[in-house]
Amino acid sequence: MKSLKAVFFSALFMVGNSAAQADEVVVYSARNEQLIKPLFDAYTKETGVQIKFVTDKEGPLMARLKAEGRNTPADVFMTVDAGNLWQAAREDLLKPVNSKVLAANIPEHLRDPGNEWFGLSVRARTVVYNRNKVKAGELGAYEDLANPKWKARLCLRTSKKVYNQSLVGMMMSEHGEDKTEQIVRGWVANLATDPFPDDTKAMEAVAAGLCDVTVVNTYYFGRLIEKKPDLPLAIFWPNQNLKNKAAGVHVNISGAGVTRHAKHEAAAIKLLEWLSSEKAQNLYADVNLEYPANPKVKADATVAAWGAFKPNLINVAQAGALQAKAVMLMDRAGYK
Ligand code: FE
Repeated sequence: MKSLKAVFFSALFMVGNSAAQADEVVVYSARNEQLIKPLFDAYTKETGVQIKFVTDKEGPLMARLKAEGRNTPADVFMTVDAGNLWQAAREDLLKPVNSKVLAANIPEHLRDPGNEWFGLSVRARTVVYNRNKVKAGELGAYEDLANPKWKARLCLRTSKKVYNQSLVGMMMSEHGEDKTEQIVRGWVANLATDPFPDDTKAMEAVAAGLCDVTVVNTYYFGRLIEKKPDLPLAIFWPNQNLKNKAAGVHVNISGAGVTRHAKHEAAAIKLLEWLSSEKAQNLYADVNLEYPANPKVKADATVAAWGAFKPNLINVAQAGALQAKAVMLMDRAGYK
């Protein structure tokens, strides 16, 4: 019943659109309205192109794209985490886009090697610690948090969240499966308490002294500190001392791709190109305290104040490619 309704809705959509095909783009977005609407308004103002959008969680949106098939009204799919974008590409919900503009604006490690999705903002998944209990010099790499010196001092978010699946997938790509499993087992052995449902709760536990250190996405740190500037929390950039390509802070993206059955393909590509442009990148990243994906664009002052870091340059597609293995590994290691 649901899919019939969806088909009917799509058919109406198409009839309604046929007169002005090039003048609109339909976006399915797992990013919140408050994060995308200001951008879309700016785009419409500049180009006259209308953007219709539907927001939901990535799972329901991908299910909807799949159910609608070639009748989908969606031209663009937008979501967070390379693991999710990789999944959408694997399920054939996206199509390759050959754009010189996107290739020039988005660094290679932040886009799909098959050109089906492109990073539009960057978030680092990094270490946050309690300044009253830890000195920055005591911290090192993600793998060091497996050292027994952190026994009963580590808090983590649940392994059910794609962010941690991506982090562990990227670590597998860097260290191989066996070493990564050892590291994750070490983390589990060091947990002060059960994993938390979200990054903010993990940081609040660190601030409250329940544990000393955690691993979170940078924008959650930014949001929490904006609300409660007196919390004794600080950011640490791990893995900065190694010389190989795999060294560096693990980064992930929010991004987008053109849908397999886009009705306004050219307009959809133009929108993605604009989103990657210097003009749009600040607006896109700053509103969520993220880093611009386009390296020509400077981060917002709040974000820049956290200091510069060297990112891990392994392609974020690895987060998706190794996701299933990462989930099994975390399960074996007892990371709940
Ligand atoms: Fe998030």
